[in-house]
Amino acid sequence: MTQNNNPSPSANHFISVSEVQKRIIKDTEAIKGTEQIALRQALGRVLAKDIIATFDTPPCDNSGMDGYAFKRSDITDQPTLTLKIAGQSFAGHPYNGEISSGEAIRIMTGAQVPEGVDTVVMQEHTEVKGEDTVTITTIPKAFANVRKAGDDLKTGQTFLARGKKISPTDLAFLATQGIAEVRVSRKIRVAFFSTGDELRSIGESLGPGDIYDSNRYSLYGLLKNMDVEMIDMGVIPDDRQLIEEAFTTAGELADAVITSGGVSVGEADFVKETLEKLGQINFWKISMKPGKPLAFGTLGNSLFFGLPGNPVAVIATFYQFVQPALKRMKGQEIVLPLQIKAKTTELLKKRPGRTDFQRGILEQSDSGELTVRNAGMQASHVLTAMSQANCFIIIPAESGSIEVGEMVDVQPFEGLTS
Ligand code: AMP
Ligand code: MG
Repeated sequence: MTQNNNPSPSANHFISVSEVQKRIIKDTEAIKGTEQIALRQALGRVLAKDIIATFDTPPCDNSGMDGYAFKRSDITDQPTLTLKIAGQSFAGHPYNGEISSGEAIRIMTGAQVPEGVDTVVMQEHTEVKGEDTVTITTIPKAFANVRKAGDDLKTGQTFLARGKKISPTDLAFLATQGIAEVRVSRKIRVAFFSTGDELRSIGESLGPGDIYDSNRYSLYGLLKNMDVEMIDMGVIPDDRQLIEEAFTTAGELADAVITSGGVSVGEADFVKETLEKLGQINFWKISMKPGKPLAFGTLGNSLFFGLPGNPVAVIATFYQFVQPALKRMKGQEIVLPLQIKAKTTELLKKRPGRTDFQRGILEQSDSGELTVRNAGMQASHVLTAMSQANCFIIIPAESGSIEVGEMVDVQPFEGLTS
């Protein structure tokens, strides 16, 4: 914690979150390989090529209503119009005959609008008397209820750009063009491990002073939501030899390596030493709470992120730094977390110093206003509030406590609540 007699701590000792984000993103490139995969498999993957429409969609003019198709110029200034029903056009069963002036076609939603008619009157605005005549009682505007060919996509148009993460809507969009396979960036490989002599894996019993390794589980969840290939390397004790071996293996296997623990000041020096020997690593003190220490650089051909050990700090630093970098590696364009404003409904305690990423609960009042409150005890070893939270509340470094009713910056979670 910076002493308060230093009014601008980040200027001297600390580097700001946004500066670190900038540096990490600058040093991160999209991975090279691509693969061709079936449409359904492409959900959540990132397009490696622009997708171009090879035909208009919709492919033909079609009706937006159940009703009758007719030629609008058959109407001059009469209040109603009676037409002879010449045939019918149903979805998948177009009308192929001739249509003369004074004739209408019974038509259903999605059915092709035949040559010779240009307007559809909805069924509710007609009266059918006898077998083969229809009277239009409310005259629609010219071209009403006709969905034009190419309304959605025109032949030759790029409709999904390289770098777009494929959403459920995009699956439908690709399907409208009959596209069975797409080329996407290959999955990135991410190796991760925890460091610390006190850490036991699930299934082992806890000795005095031991805790279970929980960071590998938050990282598993966060990485799973990012659809990456994971290499879980377990817990590595605070041992020079083992640490060096783990770093070397991880650097060879993965596109990105994530560790937790062992990056704080006063930590066994060989972690820092080893990283400096094996790769090019920066050690930063970030103006951020939780999550002050961070190591970032390259290890072999992979990017390296050394996250702090405390469980909430792992999640907060992953969200601010690792997730944007991995998105960039996957080829995505938009990488930084979304930030919005909300009104506080509780006092948010803070001392000037570092930027707080408090765990909050974002809600919408009956009147539609976004409000935010504290999710519980704000400590970096306490998962309770992190589990309750659905957002980070960001309070600037120099700020003190935030009073009820003030507006604050909020990052609604993406990938953290499910
Ligand atoms: P360190 O950064 O190694 O000094 O760890 C900071 C704090 O986080 C200590 O209380 C550690 O016991 C705890 N910690 C480190 N790694 C983990 C982990 N994988 N799971 C849970 N707690 C951890
Ligand atoms: Mg440790």
